[in-house]
Amino acid sequence: MAEQVEKVLIIGSGPAGLTAAIYTARAALQPLVLAGSVSGGQLMTTTEVENFPGFPEGIQGPELMQNMMQQAERFGARLLYEDAVEVNLQEHPFTVRTSAGNTFHCLALIVATGASARRLGLKSEAKFFGRGVSTCATCDGWFYRNKIVGVVGGGDSAMEESLYLTHHAQKVYVIHRRDKLRASKIMQQRAFSNPKIEFVWNSVVTEVLGDDKVTGVLLRNVKTGEERVLPLDGLFLAIGHEPNTALFRGQLALDEQGYILVDRFQRTSVPGVFAAGDCHDHTFRQAITAAGFGCAAAIMAERWLGELEAKGYKALKAEFVFQPER
Ligand code: NAP
Repeated sequence: MAEQVEKVLIIGSGPAGLTAAIYTARAALQPLVLAGSVSGGQLMTTTEVENFPGFPEGIQGPELMQNMMQQAERFGARLLYEDAVEVNLQEHPFTVRTSAGNTFHCLALIVATGASARRLGLKSEAKFFGRGVSTCATCDGWFYRNKIVGVVGGGDSAMEESLYLTHHAQKVYVIHRRDKLRASKIMQQRAFSNPKIEFVWNSVVTEVLGDDKVTGVLLRNVKTGEERVLPLDGLFLAIGHEPNTALFRGQLALDEQGYILVDRFQRTSVPGVFAAGDCHDHTFRQAITAAGFGCAAAIMAERWLGELEAKGYKALKAEFVFQPER
């Protein structure tokens, strides 16, 4: 069992965590990154990323994350592929325990745990999850070659997943609970002009049907109350995300949806703990904004460590006034 004290520990290895790693590594703080058993964050399950500056032809999500990891390691960041399972932020240095049984202490902590795909909450959805119900078209689309699939949601993710699925499936139904999409205009246009995509408006999935495998879904029209069966081979969910912050409940101030509250300097309610990316930001939720927040958190952590050395934790804690942004 390893037991170490780190200057900076970063939990998470999406764009926020890895950008924080690049900046703190370049500040010679030798950050330790708990990259998680599934590293790289949500971009690992994305296809083409076309809006991350610097890649005029676009770049595959996993390749972008691999590049960020290499960049962080080049400057001395250490990536450990373990999950943080317990934290103690009441005492300083902070303590983080991992799934592999390691315990780390750190002077500054950057939380970049991201968010996870939301589910509908149906029993039948749970029964078929990973066997006909998926939250990742990139991961599972291949299994639906020439099949019929449904995608739930009306945001950019739903459009992106649907468009991706048209490369495999013969038909893609987009099932949306309203009659207007939330997705950006360009994504809407792409989806509307794809002949394989058909929209099912004002409808919610009330049941996933099938015995051994998915055979369809039961839909309810929210305007008319009418129910009908839509035959499908697979169902993909693209209905947003929940922040991965359960670990910090009772330790950091969270909003009512579980997002970590931060001030404009990425400081959380505990001095010395900073948060960056989708674990606190439910407004922008872009790879580039997450990276920007990771950069800000790293710069603030570096400054805070300087102050810590000069004043000590007790004094910093005493003078800290937390004013969250919302
Ligand atoms: P989102 O924008 O929050 O959209 C979620 C969609 O799911 C909404 O249409 C919502 O319906 C629907 N929904 C939520 N809960 C539901 C439920 N229980 N049952 C049925 N439908 C439900 O999430 P997102 O699409 O994952 O996008 C998140 C952020 O990432 C956005 O800022 C988006 O622009 C960005 N993004 C960008 C790209 C890109 O630019 N290529 C790709 C993916 C994501 P309502 O509309 O009725 O609320």
